[in-house]
Amino acid sequence: MRAILDHVGIAVQDVEKALAFYRDALGLDVEAPEDVTTQRVRAHFIPTGQASLELLEATAPESPIAKFVDKRGPGIHHVTLRVEDIRATLDHLKARGVRLVDDQPRPGAEGALVAFVHPSAAQGVLVELKQAAPRRATLAAKSLSLGNFRLTVLHDGGFRLDGGAMFSVVPKPLWEKLAPPDDRNRIQLATRPLLVEAAWGRMIVDCGIGDKMGPKPTDIYALDRSRHLDHALSEIGLDASSIDVALATHLHFDHFGGATMRDGDALRPRFTRARYLIRAAEWEDATHPHERNRASYLVEDFVPLKDAGVIDFFDGDIEIRPGVRVVRTGGHTGQHQIVYVESGGKTAVFVADLIPTTAHLQDPWVMSYDLFPVDTLMFKKRFIREAIDREYLIVFEHDPHIAAGYIREAANGKRSVEQVL
Ligand SMILES: [Zn+2]
Repeated sequence: MRAILDHVGIAVQDVEKALAFYRDALGLDVEAPEDVTTQRVRAHFIPTGQASLELLEATAPESPIAKFVDKRGPGIHHVTLRVEDIRATLDHLKARGVRLVDDQPRPGAEGALVAFVHPSAAQGVLVELKQAAPRRATLAAKSLSLGNFRLTVLHDGGFRLDGGAMFSVVPKPLWEKLAPPDDRNRIQLATRPLLVEAAWGRMIVDCGIGDKMGPKPTDIYALDRSRHLDHALSEIGLDASSIDVALATHLHFDHFGGATMRDGDALRPRFTRARYLIRAAEWEDATHPHERNRASYLVEDFVPLKDAGVIDFFDGDIEIRPGVRVVRTGGHTGQHQIVYVESGGKTAVFVADLIPTTAHLQDPWVMSYDLFPVDTLMFKKRFIREAIDREYLIVFEHDPHIAAGYIREAANGKRSVEQVL
């Protein structure tokens, strides 16, 4: 069992007096108060490093905090320990005969789950257990310059996929620390197309997941497009008509669903002025799917582009535009490719599903979505070595929190990402 001190709750009698000390005299920042109506309590959080202080003010006479203060005066009310799995922790404590106030978790502030242990079991201290809500994907367009190019990592919303499928042969106790699953065993992912702006125009690499998904897959994949590509483009003063070239790493729906959109009953290209660049052999695979990849290739994502005559097919590893070249990796799909962007002696690489998130840095952490996982492994081993040695800036298309960074390797072989965006 592992627990981290989350906060110490302090029952206050007079919030002004409390603020006079913690805020004014000590000079600490106090967050905006949050009312927990079910408890008739107003909470004022004070960040203090890894853990916080929580000033608790009663908002009604029948509030447990009012009763606590009446009986014992103001003072420490509870200590909160954050655990990874609150249900497992409660089961474990119950099995050992520990007296609990709550034998089931209940909703707490900020989407967390909480439960109290009885003070008689904890040396007179009311212990609150808390399982934090899974963090939502950080979705904002973020830019940097690379030589003569401007790169912007865009976003087209978040979704979730089965954690077991995302890490394949890696046991759950190892991956769940890096990518906490929800109650349906799904982990949070992002969809982040890359925008390259150069003298020759604006290229978008992959197109996001799009808005054509029906209610059932929307539920299965927990698709959240409350913020999507239109928002991301407008954050940098652009819109869908600003794009000159759309390049596909492969044609799976979570990468190319945003290439087309509904227009009444019809489907049309999402980027109205763009040429769409697709590897011919990937097109062949996508239009001749088999049982194993059929769920990932949705014809409405790419066939309307052919009908509209906006596709330029190409073969092999070529320079698509000056400073932008594709390299086939295979593995994930037979023709999956990554995109090197090079300018001013610097290199950024959009790695798509070769390294979908920063939790996939170790060589054998390969998805079971991959059609040819050993090919992924072989390519990835070589590529990550090259990326570390040559300091490539890596864009992680599916990572919910880190959009881009440098892969670093410690002396003991442990890898991490130095976040840039
Ligand atoms: Zn993907």
